[in-house]
Amino acid sequence: MSLFGSSGVRGVVNSEMTPELACRIGMAVGSGARNIVVGTDSRTSGPMMDAAVSSGLMACGCQVYSCGLVTTPTLAEAARCMDAGVMLTASHNPPEYAGIKLWNPDGMGFGVSQSDKIEKLVSSRRFKLKPWDGVGTRHVLSDMPETHAQRILRGVGKAKLKVVVDCANGPAFNVTPIVLQRMGCKVVTINSNPDGHFPGRMPEPVEENLADLRNAVISMRADMGIAHDGDADRMVAIDDKGVFLGGDQLLALFARRYGKKKVVVTVDASMAIDDYIDAKVVRTRVGDVFVSEEVKRVKADFGGEPSGTWIFPDQTYCPDGILAAARLAEMASRKKLSELRKGVPVYPTLRKSVSFKSEDKPMVLRKLKAEMTSIDSEELLTMDGFRHQFEDGWALVRASGTEPKIRLLAEARSAVRADEIMRLMSVAVRRCVK
Ligand code: MG
Repeated sequence: MSLFGSSGVRGVVNSEMTPELACRIGMAVGSGARNIVVGTDSRTSGPMMDAAVSSGLMACGCQVYSCGLVTTPTLAEAARCMDAGVMLTASHNPPEYAGIKLWNPDGMGFGVSQSDKIEKLVSSRRFKLKPWDGVGTRHVLSDMPETHAQRILRGVGKAKLKVVVDCANGPAFNVTPIVLQRMGCKVVTINSNPDGHFPGRMPEPVEENLADLRNAVISMRADMGIAHDGDADRMVAIDDKGVFLGGDQLLALFARRYGKKKVVVTVDASMAIDDYIDAKVVRTRVGDVFVSEEVKRVKADFGGEPSGTWIFPDQTYCPDGILAAARLAEMASRKKLSELRKGVPVYPTLRKSVSFKSEDKPMVLRKLKAEMTSIDSEELLTMDGFRHQFEDGWALVRASGTEPKIRLLAEARSAVRADEIMRLMSVAVRRCVK
């Protein structure tokens, strides 16, 4: 199994993600680079990981600029004038995880070929270690949250709202409330103490983890609630009625406001977006790096995925949950979020999964390709699983990356049609697993 996934390297602390591995990744990144910025989320392993990665970088002669506790988009901002950025975060994973994600100066995460290069160096151990008088030193960069806040504020207007911000016990406390206050909002924070045990809630910003935020929005009669994941590259919201604004709805709202000509979304995004906006919708693989790459490639005005990742290329190619919060506040100051939400269509969606024996995987995938390509539809996308577009609905069939399962998703304008599409797909998938 490869070391780097679409969101960098992740693993359980001191079993998969050890200081030794972190140091070797530091040495791999440092071989051939001069200036590298390093930041951490609020996990208990942050200082350990920082020391290990920084040590590897300095061994290769790098000047290490240490931002300390920062959000991922803050780190990406700091990487603008460096050779690369190293963010020590496991994002929304449970507390026992640690992770390393690498960033380019333009805010893009390392792509597949860059990650492959690092991975080869890590396993070959052909690092460019320096002699005693060539090792790097460590400098402290303490003002990056302020620099990041100022960049966001240059791209947003005023918003006089009451907002509750749930910082997920992560690093968002040092930037999101400040940005919203300076825009003119009255801000109440919850889970704003950074704590790697995540005492307030688990770091994934899904509806079931956000009951406290919802209750706070309702009881304080706030205009909106904002929730980040553990490193604040992601953002979701609660509207003024206490209703969770999930990925597909926010995706449609942002795309309508910011997608002038072209928007990039992932293959799992709802067809609501196609119906709600006038701009051209381009679909790509699931994963924020793939969305960023496609936004850049097709020169889109906006990109996003329903997990809560929003990319505004006028400011950065890095998914920035704080910028997204600021832009949503600006939108909500013109029209209530609950009103905006009502305009976005919600269609019946069905999900299911079909298991198979893990030893059958090559055969199942071979059969799946044959089955899926023989189904007649308006359009078949194959960049990530199989997405069939029909006149009044669509389906996505993908093998899980982590379990021996095929996942099926069907959405249509009517429940009857969604059911029909799901049945068509299920029958085909069942033929593959026998
Ligand atoms: Mg994240």
